[in-house]
Parts: sequence; structure tokens; C-alpha cells
Amino acid sequence: MQGALGARRERAEALTYTHPRPPWGEPVPVLEGLWWLRLRLPLRLDHVNVWLIEEEDGGLSAIDTGFDDAPTRSAWQRVLEQVFAHRRLVRVLATHYHPDHIGLAGWLCRRYGAELWASRAEWLMARMLALDTSEEFDRAYEHYDRRAGLPEELVQRRRAAGNLWRRRAGAPPGAHRRLRHGDHLQLGRFRFRVIIGEGHAPEMVTLVDEEAGVLIAADQVLPRISPVVSVPPSMPEADVLADFLGSLERYRPLDEGILVLPSHGRPFRGLHRRLDQLAAHHEERLARALAACSEPRTVYEVMPALFDFTIDESQLGFALGETYAHLNHLTARGELAWELADDGALRFRRL
Ligand SMILES: [Zn+2]
Repeated sequence: MQGALGARRERAEALTYTHPRPPWGEPVPVLEGLWWLRLRLPLRLDHVNVWLIEEEDGGLSAIDTGFDDAPTRSAWQRVLEQVFAHRRLVRVLATHYHPDHIGLAGWLCRRYGAELWASRAEWLMARMLALDTSEEFDRAYEHYDRRAGLPEELVQRRRAAGNLWRRRAGAPPGAHRRLRHGDHLQLGRFRFRVIIGEGHAPEMVTLVDEEAGVLIAADQVLPRISPVVSVPPSMPEADVLADFLGSLERYRPLDEGILVLPSHGRPFRGLHRRLDQLAAHHEERLARALAACSEPRTVYEVMPALFDFTIDESQLGFALGETYAHLNHLTARGELAWELADDGALRFRRL
């Protein structure tokens, strides 16, 4: 699934986890006026965290939504029509366009009369993917796969699978309130500042309230797993790893003791340690990719060198995208060069 997170477990013992895991679909308070709701995902990464904020006027704001599927809809119905029946859902803030984050925004906004808040790029991406059934969509994937040196059989299977986003997500509302980097938002008792994270998604919204000591980190800073940084077929030559590593620096000025609320995993403290671990993880993967290219290699050939587990077909999309990301970054740094061979595949080699 495009944008899915790999189950790449890392040692992150330096982090301090602050709260136990709540039961599925049961909102639990993590701070005064801020609730944690854990929703199931039918994937190896089996959950997404959403955050509920009590508004002063009796409303409720939701940050992220889960997939658009029957179990997620009923989980929300229980939460909004029973647990929080005394409050009205007034807004859905979607951190980014991936189906586990914005998937149910259309349904929630329609059913409860809520408005959607999102950054422009994330809203546009979600709208585009919701509507894109064009030949051009398939063609971009095919081009991307062929340049990666994927065996023809896999190229055809991926083409037949089509637009996976649409299987997990409904169209988001046709209008939104645009959020930008540096905006200040009052949500309940929190005065958040928007920090845009890049690389995992183009313009991901994360929210910090330094006085309250809380960072809603979306997928930018996760404990235990490294967010997927994947080159999309729509921009096959993009250096998304530079975007990711560059935007991590926007979190450096925040306090080490800040409570980090990630979209996957448990709330934790140890932000700077985690930023260091994420940067070190990618440096180590870059070194592996570089070593793999002492002879000219395709993206598909380099891929196994970057992962400590065997890639099955459900993980192929993200694994390929991550490998592209590391190879494109090394190319941008001037450490690799590629050539397009007669078979239509790129070959990367060390300079
Ligand atoms: Zn994501």
C-alpha cells in the first residue's frame, strides 16, 4: 500500500514511554482535554493513533481518522455517538494524505457536519488520488517500475492492482481550511504552532504547543519504526530523503522533555535522541546503498541490501520507494551516477 509504514523495528531504548496502550477504539486521556484513540489497521502495522481535543464551546476536534472501512466507521460511531455524545465533531484535521490519516475524513465531515483542516499539498494529493482513474496514473507506475529494473511479471501485477489509495480511503471534502508552516491554531486549551514535516508526505502538518509541552508529531517522528521515506512514481527523480532529513531539523529547537504524540506507537519523551536515531538510520542505509553500487546496479538489485528482512510482495511498493530515495539522495550528493540501459532500467554506480 502506498505510504504504508514498514515494520522496521529498531532499538530505541533511550526513549521514555509515558502511557500504556489503550484498548482498541477506547479513547483515553493523555493530557487534560486531549484524548488518545487507537484504531485498527488490517496491516502488519496494525494501528493508527488519532487525537481528540475538547473544544471550549462543547465541540470536539479530531486529528486524523483511520481508514475508510466498516470497522473504522463503527469505531467512530461508538466514540462520537456514545462516548462523546454530549459533544459535536466540529473539525477533522488531517495531518497528511495517507489513507490511515485522511481516509475517513470525507465520511466524518459529511456525517457530523465537521470541516476539514489540512495543508494544501496534502489536501490536493488526497483529492487527486481519490479521483485519479486515468491511464496516465498506471503509466507513471509502469515507468517507475521499469526504471527500477523490476521483473516484467511484477510490473504487470502492480499495474493490475491499480490505485491502492482508493481501496482504503474515500474522497476528502471538496473544501478545506488551508494550514501553513508557522500558523497558530487554538484547539481546545492548546495554542498550537504548525511545523510542516516533509519527505514522508509532501506537506505534513505537525503541531507543537511548547507551553503545554506537547508535540503532535504525525508520522514525522515515530518511536521504534522509521517513517517510510519513499520516492513517489509522480516524481521519480525527487530527493525526498533531503526533504525528510532537512525538515527533521525544524524539531531541534524544541525541548528534549516535550511529550511526543506519534501516529504509530506510544507517546514518548526523548525527541532529540529520536531525531538523532532517525538521521543515523538513514546514514547507515546510505552507506549500504553506496557499497551495493560498486558495480552498476538497478534499484531492484540494491533493494535487498537496505532491509534486514525479506521483502514480500505487500511490502514491495514501499521498499522500492525507499531504495529509490536513498539512491536519488546519493546521486544528488554526487556520490552515485545513473545511466539508462537498453532494457529501460537505470543502473546506479559509485563515482
Ligand atoms: Zn503516513
